[in-house]
Amino acid sequence: MKPLYRERLRRLRASMAAKKLDAALVTDLKNIRYLTGFTGSSAYAVVSADKAFFLTDPRYTAQSGEEVKGFRIRIFKKALETVAQTVGEMKAGSLGFESGSVSFDNYSRLAKALRGKARLKPSPGLISALRRVKDSFEIEKIRDAAKLLDRGFAHAMKVAVPGAVERQAAFSIETFFRKRGAESLAFDTIIASGERGALPHGKASEKRIKKGELVVVDMGALLNGYNSDETRTFVTGRPTPKQKEVYGVVRDAQAAAIERVRPGVKAAVVDLAARGVIGKAGYGKYFGHGTGHGVGLDIHESPGLGPTSDDVLEEGMVITVEPGIYIPGWGGVRIEDMALVTKNGAELLTSTTRDFVIL
Ligand code: ZN
Ligand code: ZN
Repeated sequence: MKPLYRERLRRLRASMAAKKLDAALVTDLKNIRYLTGFTGSSAYAVVSADKAFFLTDPRYTAQSGEEVKGFRIRIFKKALETVAQTVGEMKAGSLGFESGSVSFDNYSRLAKALRGKARLKPSPGLISALRRVKDSFEIEKIRDAAKLLDRGFAHAMKVAVPGAVERQAAFSIETFFRKRGAESLAFDTIIASGERGALPHGKASEKRIKKGELVVVDMGALLNGYNSDETRTFVTGRPTPKQKEVYGVVRDAQAAAIERVRPGVKAAVVDLAARGVIGKAGYGKYFGHGTGHGVGLDIHESPGLGPTSDDVLEEGMVITVEPGIYIPGWGGVRIEDMALVTKNGAELLTSTTRDFVIL
C-alpha cells in the first residue's frame, strides 16, 4: 500500500477553499511529511489551488528528489526569501500559515520578505484537522507500530522485575525495539515503581524495583514514522487488597470508556465514562489528566479526550484510552490502549493482557 498524497493534497485544498485561503504555507515537519513524504529536517511547502511547491536546502537535494511526491521541488539558499518569491508567483491575496508552529521571529521575517504581496492569515490546525482521520495507509502503519509495542510488553514483563533498576530495564526495552526496526522510542519510556507510580509521567530512574510494588510501564515505539503508545501496570509479588481494588477500578474505568467509543460521540463523553467509574469508587481526586489523545505521526495529536474537549469522534481516528489513579506516597495504576474508531465502535490495536499480571 502506498501513501495517498494526492488525496491528502485534495483535502487540504478543500479546507483552504472553505477558509478562503488563496495559498497555504506549511512549516510543521510532520505536516510536510504527511503531505509530501519528505522525512528530512528542513523544509517548507507552499500550496495554492493549482500549484504545490516543496522547498528545502541544498543538503536535501537528493533526498527530496527521492521522497517528495506530487510537489515541484525548489532548493533555497534563503528560506523565507524563496517562500515569499513562490507566494508572489502564485499571486495569492491571502496566505494561511501554521501560527501554532511559527516563531515570532520567523513570522516577522516572513512578513518583511513578503513586502505586502499577500496577507498572512493565522490558520492553526489547518493540517492537523486533516490528520485526525487516518487513511488506510496510515492505519496499516499504526497497526504495525502497535504490534511491535505488544511484543515489547512481553519483553518488559521479563526485565521490569524485582531487583532490576528502572533505567536498565528501560534501556533493555529500547534495545528490543531498535533491533526490530524501530526508528526510535515514541517518547522516553516510563517505568515508575512503588511510590514513583504516583507520578503520571515518571520517567525510568535509578530506582531499583522491589517486591510487592506496582510498576507502571508506559512506552511507545516509532516505526515507519508512526507512533504507538500503551501502558500496563504490573505488580511484583502477591497483590495487597488495595492494589487489587485500585487496579480493578482503573480496568473498569477503561472498559467503560472503550464501550462509549463510536463515531459521532463527543470525546468528552468518553472521558466522562472513565471519570465516572473512578469518581464513584472514591478515587476521583487521584485522576488528574485526560482520558486519551490521538496518535499518529505525532505521539500526542488531535483529538483530545479530556473533560473540556470539543472534539467529536469520527470513523478512522486512532486514539488512546488511558485512565489512571495516582495516590501520592502509595503509587499508581494506569492502563492504556490504542483504539481505532470504527463504525461499530472501538477496535483495540494493542492487545497485551489487561489482567493484573504478577511479575
Ligand atoms: Zn502512554
Ligand atoms: Zn498516551
